[in-house]
Amino acid sequence: MKTPIDTLRASGHAALWWMALVLVCLGCRHPGATTSGGWQRFEFSEPHMGTLFTITFYAKQESVAREAARAAFARVGELNLILSDYDAESELVRLFESEHGKPVAVSAELFRVLTHAQALAEETDGAFDVTLGPLTRLWRKARRTKTLPDAAAIAEAKAAVGWQKLELDARLRAVTLRVPNMKLDLGGIAKGFAADEALAVLRRHGIKRALVAASGDLAIGDAPPGRDGWNVGIAPLDAASGKITDALVLKNCGVSTSGDTEQSIDINGVRYSHIVNPATGLGLTERIGVTVIARDATTTDALATAVSVVGAGRGMKLVEASKSAEAIIMTHNEVGRRAIVSEGFGKFRKAR
Ligand code: ADP
Ligand code: MG
Repeated sequence: MKTPIDTLRASGHAALWWMALVLVCLGCRHPGATTSGGWQRFEFSEPHMGTLFTITFYAKQESVAREAARAAFARVGELNLILSDYDAESELVRLFESEHGKPVAVSAELFRVLTHAQALAEETDGAFDVTLGPLTRLWRKARRTKTLPDAAAIAEAKAAVGWQKLELDARLRAVTLRVPNMKLDLGGIAKGFAADEALAVLRRHGIKRALVAASGDLAIGDAPPGRDGWNVGIAPLDAASGKITDALVLKNCGVSTSGDTEQSIDINGVRYSHIVNPATGLGLTERIGVTVIARDATTTDALATAVSVVGAGRGMKLVEASKSAEAIIMTHNEVGRRAIVSEGFGKFRKAR
């Protein structure tokens, strides 16, 4: 078996340390190589949602493979036009730019993502919160300028933040933003949802032995031919070692890594994450790396972000309370480096 060939997150950030996680796909064969039973392995990549989406699957006919991949990427592009908060023309931006206090009918996709997000917001007392937009925008600027937002700007943003200010009406499939200047940010859930949807498109094209990777979010279908599952490794971002800390065998699930990432920034000697703590309005400063496995990537993307915010103790309780979820949580603080795993995590570990 080969060593990692698909490093799904950039490595080479020497300043990052071991606990930052990376998902790698191990033991894959070369694209186009024919395996037993006439299966060929295909791999396609396209940039979407500010990251690289990579689709890997097995099919018997190249024409079917190409058409399926094209349709899957087209779906991701379509979802970006719905869910992006960067694109001024997206449905999401048009929603929060519209008059507050009135219900706005939205697409089925946007409603599904918001429904999932709101359920998790309620479960985490708002640690996961897609109404953080005003704060995440301040935070993006802080990262660009390497200057912390001032207290007045944070206070002003906070007035337009809070998951309870977002109201969903399932009957009308409508969304009401209760106060002015609200902005929604689906950055903690949209990539997982898009990966799930891309996998569903492949399935509709008859391709079931597939894995869709959107950076640290993977949607995984049936196992490759002749194998028990897809080999997914959790590795340190600290490129010096490149060693896999955990090798997993996965099928029909989602898996996401969140927390300590290459997107963190140093301001006045303090390292802040791109994940915002709603309580402080600032990026997380605790060193935490979380990998969650659950039924789909929408669930894992959101849950991994939420666990990063609430920390290892509460985070593990959250994971254990969720029926399909398992996790490994790595922390580094004054006490030292620690890794804890949920009760059922071991069943995904590759037998050694
Ligand atoms: P990545 O983007 O590296 O995969 P995450 O899935 O953890 O990482 O998502 C981080 C993104 O989620 C941020 O860039 C921001 O858009 C959004 N976000 C930040 N803090 C929160 C939070 N507390 N709750 C929900 N979304 C958040
Ligand atoms: Mg996430």
